[in-house]
Amino acid sequence: MKKLELHWRILIGMVLGLLFGFGMTFPDGGREIVQDWINPFGIIFVKLLKLIAIPLILASLIKGISDLKDISKFRRIGLRTIIIYVCTTVVAISIGLILVNILQPGEGISDETITKLTETYASDTGVVSKIEEASKQRERPLGFLEDMVPDNAIGAMSDNALMLQVIFFTIFLGISMLLIGEERARPLKQFFDALNYVVLKMVDLIMLTAPFAVFALLANVVASSGDPDLLYALLKYAGVVVLGLALMVFFYTLVVAFYTKKNAFWFLKEISPAQLLAFSTSSSAATLPVTMERVEEHIGVDKEVSSFVLPVGATINMDGTSLYQGVAAVFIAQALAFDLSLGDQLTIVGTALMASIGSAAVPGAGMVMLVIVLESIGFPSDKLAIGLALIFAVDRPLDMCRTIINVTGDATVSMVVAKSVGKLGKPRVEDWDDHYEKVK
Ligand code: ASP
Repeated sequence: MKKLELHWRILIGMVLGLLFGFGMTFPDGGREIVQDWINPFGIIFVKLLKLIAIPLILASLIKGISDLKDISKFRRIGLRTIIIYVCTTVVAISIGLILVNILQPGEGISDETITKLTETYASDTGVVSKIEEASKQRERPLGFLEDMVPDNAIGAMSDNALMLQVIFFTIFLGISMLLIGEERARPLKQFFDALNYVVLKMVDLIMLTAPFAVFALLANVVASSGDPDLLYALLKYAGVVVLGLALMVFFYTLVVAFYTKKNAFWFLKEISPAQLLAFSTSSSAATLPVTMERVEEHIGVDKEVSSFVLPVGATINMDGTSLYQGVAAVFIAQALAFDLSLGDQLTIVGTALMASIGSAAVPGAGMVMLVIVLESIGFPSDKLAIGLALIFAVDRPLDMCRTIINVTGDATVSMVVAKSVGKLGKPRVEDWDDHYEKVK
């Protein structure tokens, strides 16, 4: 019998995880059982993905740059990538703002619901910590640039949150390797080439466990979710965000079909394992190794492009997050009767763009930067906690959805950049057991 394709196996794991998690909310102590005995397997899976993220960026970016042969190509790819990332993010925020202004999800929220949400979440540690984190980010306007340059390469590599520093160091190393000439750089290049193959093989091996891991991750999300009544109250707001995200997927498929001339359904099918993992882990950083493997081996984007576009995208390009920030900011303003002018809405476009660049690629990061977006439109700081409390109940499911878009956006842009420099080729899939017969 032909083995089910990976995305189906992951999807089945997800559905079973959702059902199991839901079932475990009924018996006494069920939630704790999921937390203590099921959730660790999901955590281990996410740890494994994060474990290989830094070696993968290092090896693949060096391989990518040293394959380039001349630096001007890198400049071309770099510039195009950043410009296209900014454009897709602006499209995303605009879609979000148009929808939230037309559909007005904040108008229907009753005072009673606002009071209930405020009482439940305004002093929740989750909300309070997000406001504190945002204030740290705000104090240094050029902090983002400053933080990009490491003062210790090993230090940067020891912390996944410092991914941009690793990218900076690796590009510096790769370009210097080009400058010493092919002959002298060869041993180093061979080392990183081999490391790159090894890490991609690790991705294949980790993915063998993905269907079980997503079961654990989703069972835990459902079993630890809050009061369902509050979730229903926010259904319209959540619906607007999800509709916006769905329109973004449509936008990507148009770009893929018209610009790269590839079948959009094929693209979605090939990238789907990364999307499903983005949904299950809520982290584009954790999903990065899988996104890279899918884009290179299953879609045919050359490493010269993907090795730069994808890690950079995982950290700075967050279309889903910025769309959500636009919708959430206006929703909060509508619900709390805070008037927004057209100028305020344009300010949201600018700050949500910067905020999505500055957001970390981890669960819940988008909400931290939302604080900065709200402040940029003069939202009173004493009401921030109430504002965040309004959307906190549905943040996790929306985080899962917006992370899918963040990852899909990166993959789409990598195809566009690859096509524009003639580097979108034929996919060459490698399975985990290609050489297994020889070594078993
Ligand atoms: N979880 C998102 C990501 O990792 C960021 C966010 O929107 O909170 O891409």
